[in-house]
Amino acid sequence: MSNEDSPREDSSRRLLRGDPGEGERPEPDPSLFEEVVNLCKRRGFVFPSSEIYGGLRSTYDWGPLGALLLQNVRQAWWRAMVQQRSDVVPIEAAVLTSPKVWEASGHLATFTDPLVDCRRCKERWRADQIGDSCPNCGSDDLTEARPFNLMFKTFVGPVEEDAAIAYLRPETAQGMFVNFLNVLQSTRKRPPFGIAQIGRSFRNEITPGNFVFRTREFDQMELEFFVPPEEADRWFEYWCANRRAWYERYGIPSSWLRLRPHEEEELSHYSVRTSDIEFRFPWGWGELEGIANRTDYDLRAHSEASGVRLEYFDQTTGEHYMPYAIEPAGGVTRAAMAFLLSAIDRDEVAGEQRSVLRLHPLIAPYQVAVLPLSKKETLTPLARQVLAELQGSFVCDYDETQAIGRRYRRQDEIGTPFCVTVDFDSIDDKQVTVRERDTTEQVRLPLSKLAEHLLGRFSEAGDTP
Ligand code: ATP
Repeated sequence: MSNEDSPREDSSRRLLRGDPGEGERPEPDPSLFEEVVNLCKRRGFVFPSSEIYGGLRSTYDWGPLGALLLQNVRQAWWRAMVQQRSDVVPIEAAVLTSPKVWEASGHLATFTDPLVDCRRCKERWRADQIGDSCPNCGSDDLTEARPFNLMFKTFVGPVEEDAAIAYLRPETAQGMFVNFLNVLQSTRKRPPFGIAQIGRSFRNEITPGNFVFRTREFDQMELEFFVPPEEADRWFEYWCANRRAWYERYGIPSSWLRLRPHEEEELSHYSVRTSDIEFRFPWGWGELEGIANRTDYDLRAHSEASGVRLEYFDQTTGEHYMPYAIEPAGGVTRAAMAFLLSAIDRDEVAGEQRSVLRLHPLIAPYQVAVLPLSKKETLTPLARQVLAELQGSFVCDYDETQAIGRRYRRQDEIGTPFCVTVDFDSIDDKQVTVRERDTTEQVRLPLSKLAEHLLGRFSEAGDTP
């Protein structure tokens, strides 16, 4: 049933990027970024927010494919950080937080970026992101840098008075610290153990930009891993290696990642040691995730401010102590962007150029597309039946319009790893064709073996849905 020749594959490409760290790759060129941005707009990954009203600067809505992509990134993190570990439990804390939390944590005083104004064009900039002149008008008449607090303040209840001020959280981490005792007592975990959370955080960034790289609201994926203080360095190293391996496992080439230790003066107010996992974005290295040793800074600060001792009582030694927190903190949208930039590719199939998104099968928005060969009524019931069966295990797309070759291309372009084609023979022989994205190879299989075959291909890629 093929109407494609076998592709002229770059033989260094492995089928279904499940294999970690594929080694050296050339530097990403700037056109990659444009290509990803175009794809995101054209195929409905990302829309400008409030677009029919002219948009809201640097704010985005995620469309149908984008919502699936982000969900897959969250799930991949959740599987690795919560589901597959017995030493981590999740929470979901509130976004609105008491000012007391941010006063104690030091964020009210120090969660700032240095702000400068251009006296000529009045634009405002983050001092550490520009040189000596205004990137907008070139003037070097800039004000002195002054600290600008990034937290969004709001008013809770009907009266706008000081007593009712609340903040939108700028990190999810404080939810883990202030619930430390609640979690300890309700789960009977003991260090080393972690509390994990995925949720929305808000920062009034001075210069958002680079598409979705820096926005004012974003989802974070954070773990606070509480350890005996003397084990902190060992766990820090462990999480640096573990988290880097996660990005490689889901398709980022090893040579496009690096671990960059912070210089002393760069450390956040709560950290004694931080390393960033950076990705080689087309505009240069940029942070995907930070791993920090926050020591007992937060538990101690909240104990002092609240009067509640946030400690662990070790029954074997009879000692009370405050564990250190090792924090891997990543962003969902930055990870999604890095996966897209790593996956976007072109090759030639049957003498034609094709755009293909070589996403890991569990990161791809759709895992399987069910494509009846034609829209004829005789095929629809069987195709719908195949769809319904696969939807029990996979995220599926269904598409019955246009020539089959065009439909394959549309699925290649959004990264769907498998297409299942139902043709006229299928009605009698109860067989379908499975076509793989990366090689465009096709196999014909009995319907009764279809789900098992696909699950097998996923587990070869290192994971199952
Ligand atoms: P940056 O130096 O880029 O401002 P940060 O060091 O302040 O980042 P962290 O406080 O370590 O960031 O936050 C953890 C993660 O949250 C980051 O690695 C990033 O993936 C994500 N993140 C932080 N700020 C933003 C933002 N404005 N937009 C999107 N993601 C963000």
